[in-house]
Amino acid sequence: MSTGRRNTHQAGWQRSTQFRTIARAAIKAWNAKRPNLPKCGATAKGTGEPCKQLAMENGRCAWHGGKSPRGKRYGLPQWPSKSSPNAVEKMSRKLRDRERQARERAKRLAAMTPKERQRYEEHRQTHKPGPPGPRAADRARRKQNKDTQNLFATAENQPAAESQFLAAAIDELKRKLERLQRPAAADPVTDQGDIFG
Ligand SMILES: [Zn+2]
Repeated sequence: MSTGRRNTHQAGWQRSTQFRTIARAAIKAWNAKRPNLPKCGATAKGTGEPCKQLAMENGRCAWHGGKSPRGKRYGLPQWPSKSSPNAVEKMSRKLRDRERQARERAKRLAAMTPKERQRYEEHRQTHKPGPPGPRAADRARRKQNKDTQNLFATAENQPAAESQFLAAAIDELKRKLERLQRPAAADPVTDQGDIFG
């Protein structure tokens, strides 16, 4: 019975010349427009090539983080709505997905080089999930820490530069002393005029 309904519906579009023209024009217009629309910035895992899907608002397609929530829900899981007619199935699928993702993540982490792992941990520190307020505070704190570290590094370098300068001055004085002592030992009378040279 439902098949019959679908056939009737399809037939409406297929039989009418006017509708076919509308449909053809619509798909033609879309095909002309699509190549110029911004594409997803991710690399496709399967091919290693840039993803060819259309980008969403944040520059990624729906499969590469385009649907990831921003603002208060940044980085947090999106649970199905309670009002959804199949909320239970959606929820169990979501939980299953998350378990699978955790297993895959553990595998990836185990295979990482120390350098990759360090990069991952740094990214985790700088991309914590949650509302923007605490994230901004975190960012400010990290910047302050870095500035302080830089300041200490500069302060620590100061004595080094100073001692370098002193060592050079000492060398110079030693050379002067040698110059003064040499002529005095060789010929105290004739070279007397050079003593302060
Ligand atoms: Zn993509």
